[in-house]
Amino acid sequence: MSGDLTPAAKSDRSFHLAENVIARGSKTIVEIPVLTEPDGTTIVIPILVVHGAEAGPVLNLSAGQHGDEYMAGEACRRLYQELDPARLKGTLVAAPCINVQAFKAGSRLTPDDRGDLNRVWPGRPDGTLTEQIAFSYLHQVVASCDYLLDFHDGGTWLAMEPLCGIDRVAETHLYRRSREMAILTGVPVLWADDPWPGSLPVEALRLGIPALTVESGADLDEPEAVVAGHLRMVRSLMCGLGMLPGAADAGGGSEQVCGKFARCTVRGLFKPCARRGAHVDRGDLIGVVVGTTGAVVEEVRAVASGRLLFLRRLSVVQPGERAYLIGEPVDPTSVNGGESV
Ligand SMILES: [Zn+2]
Repeated sequence: MSGDLTPAAKSDRSFHLAENVIARGSKTIVEIPVLTEPDGTTIVIPILVVHGAEAGPVLNLSAGQHGDEYMAGEACRRLYQELDPARLKGTLVAAPCINVQAFKAGSRLTPDDRGDLNRVWPGRPDGTLTEQIAFSYLHQVVASCDYLLDFHDGGTWLAMEPLCGIDRVAETHLYRRSREMAILTGVPVLWADDPWPGSLPVEALRLGIPALTVESGADLDEPEAVVAGHLRMVRSLMCGLGMLPGAADAGGGSEQVCGKFARCTVRGLFKPCARRGAHVDRGDLIGVVVGTTGAVVEEVRAVASGRLLFLRRLSVVQPGERAYLIGEPVDPTSVNGGESV
């Protein structure tokens, strides 16, 4: 399959990223400027670049759009440390922490403007800080890459099964190549859905770059397992793209689903009643929302039958926030090759 994914060869032996020139067979850390604050400090996006000794694809790993999701950034840092540029074909461009302000605050949202970065792409050069982060990253980093993998995890409030998400865009060749990427990760669950407005993968696709969202995040007390899972799927993808020796893991995309969310309608404490990863039937009790005295103020039930891919942890919930995601099995041929897009 990697033969279908071979990008145009780069004629220049150096890799150019924004104002930076990275010599072939080397690795370095660069900073992408976003804006300078009135006190003179500059907000930047750190980028870890490994430019392989041999020509090959340029793979972008984007992590930390949400500042409370630490695991993918950790995987990016470890991958940067372990990769030997002398043995790499192509280039890894990894952002462990796109939204540095949100990371510092340990917050999903940018603290300066309460923006959710993965809802504002393509951003604006003269917009809010969140919009300027998006604009800078899209044009100075993503536009220089051949493939994009946008990493997320459950943060502190959501437990989730590993899954790959792709957008069912009208450009079938981009849909097919994104789907091939998903399969090369070796992750069984493949969720193909309508494009998510304002998300990074949708804007990458608009630039003609195949793109994938990866979600993972099981137990908070097992962070090493989550990081290991992230690393396994990226290494598998890199093997499949021909960047590393070896074959991609088998089993990728073997469980194809469409996603069904449910949101809570009241404020209170969400108490999960089901188990992440379990099969549920339509109407099953997934969780309850209780008030301060323990009285149940809302029952949250399954809106479809399938596997519970996301489940909110024991946490305070606000009206409109997600409680779970059910992956409803779909006929693989309905998302095979994009004919039904
Ligand atoms: Zn996220």
